[in-house]
This record gives sequence, C-alpha cells and structure tokens, in this order.
Amino acid sequence: MIKIAIDGPSGAGKSTLAKALAARLGIIYVDTGALYRAVGYYVKSKGVDPQDSVAVEELLPEINIGLKYECGVQNVYLNGENLGDKIRQPEISMYASAVSAIPAVRKFLLETQKSIAREHSVVMDGRDIGTVILPDADIKIFLTATDEVRARRRYNELLAKGIEVKYEDVLAEMKERDARDRSREIAPAIPAPDAVILDNSDCTNEESVEDVLRIIKEKL
Ligand code: C5P
Repeated sequence: MIKIAIDGPSGAGKSTLAKALAARLGIIYVDTGALYRAVGYYVKSKGVDPQDSVAVEELLPEINIGLKYECGVQNVYLNGENLGDKIRQPEISMYASAVSAIPAVRKFLLETQKSIAREHSVVMDGRDIGTVILPDADIKIFLTATDEVRARRRYNELLAKGIEVKYEDVLAEMKERDARDRSREIAPAIPAPDAVILDNSDCTNEESVEDVLRIIKEKL
C-alpha cells in the first residue's frame, strides 16, 4: 500500500497532478475538497449561513455523503444524489471554505477520508492531508504557484465548464478563500514539516507529474 498526500492552495493544480499520478501508479485518486463542497452545497440548499457554526452543526445528522468510484472517476453522492458539477460553482467554493473552518464539519468528514486510505493505496488531495488525515503518508507534496497563475488556471477551468466569471473576481475570491483556509484554527492549509514544497508556476502538467514521480522514486 502506498499513500501520497498532495496539499496546497486552490488552483495550484493539485487535482490535475493527483489524477495523473493515480493513473500512472494504478491507484485511487481521492478529491477531499469535494466532501467539503458537498457539505457547503447542502448548507446552501437549506438557506443556512455557512459561518453559523451552530446552525451548520445541527444540519450534519441530515447529511449522508459517500464517494463512489465509477468508470474511473470519483463521484460524490449526497443523500443518494450524484452531485456532479453542481459543487463546482464559485459560490459553492466559498460555502465549502466557510464550513470547513467549523470543527464539527471536519470531524464529520474525518472517518470517510481515513477509511478510504486504510483500505486502498491512494493519492489524496486537499489542505490537511499531510498534517491531519495521513500524517504517516509515504510521500507528502505541498503544491503551489503564484496567485496570478492559480487564478488564471481556475478562470480557464470555469470557462471550460461554461461557468461565466470575471478573472478579477476569481483572483479576489481565491485570495479570500486561501487566506481563510491558511489562517483557520483547525487544520490550517499549511505544509506538513516533512512535505516537499513544489512551485509549479512555470511547469507543464507533465513536468509536475515527472517531478513527483522522481520524488517518489528517490524516497521509496
Ligand atoms: O480543493 P477544493 O477547492 O475543492 O476545496 C474546497 C474547500 O474545501 C477549500 O477551500 C477548503 O476550505 C476546504 N478543504 C479543506 N480541507 C481539505 C480539502 C478542502 O478544508 N482537505
């Protein structure tokens, strides 16, 4: 079994890298951000303020989240419904970030994440994988890039999905979300002490994958 943790801020290219690595190594890719997005989606659907920790906590017993691997992709199910791209809207990113700072939400999603890694070899991406979820991961990467490069990537991704946004808004929202993720009291989005920090601002996707494969070879 091998466990690879990929953490870093939004738009750093974590999911692209993690997906490619998982395919190359023939193991499962786990996108943990999707779990927080699913909680954010439910909170929004109930008209609850995502900063209101008491109200959000009260909703948790109504939420049943499952990850299923179908045709090689991870699908997130919320109370039996496949959420698909509904959780990719910029508004849901903000809801996810707000609810993820609530300790009860993190506790609620902890076991789902840990149990997948107990049963399978994984490449898992998120914000606290190397620090909290898989502190004993074989490889820990903290992936980053400049604010402008990350915002441009996120902007292009959203446009490709047909979601209309302005670059300036994407940049501003990304900075706000990252600042909150980095400074929260619980599981802040910071590198584990034993993580390798990779800045891929000037790399192609393929180069990033090669970099990590080299790190894996050297370490294992
Ligand atoms: O990775 P993604 O952008 O989909 O994550 C959405 C939000 O979920 C992040 O901004 C972060 O607040 C939260 N998150 C987290 N811990 C993780 C993964 C995501 O707090 N492991």
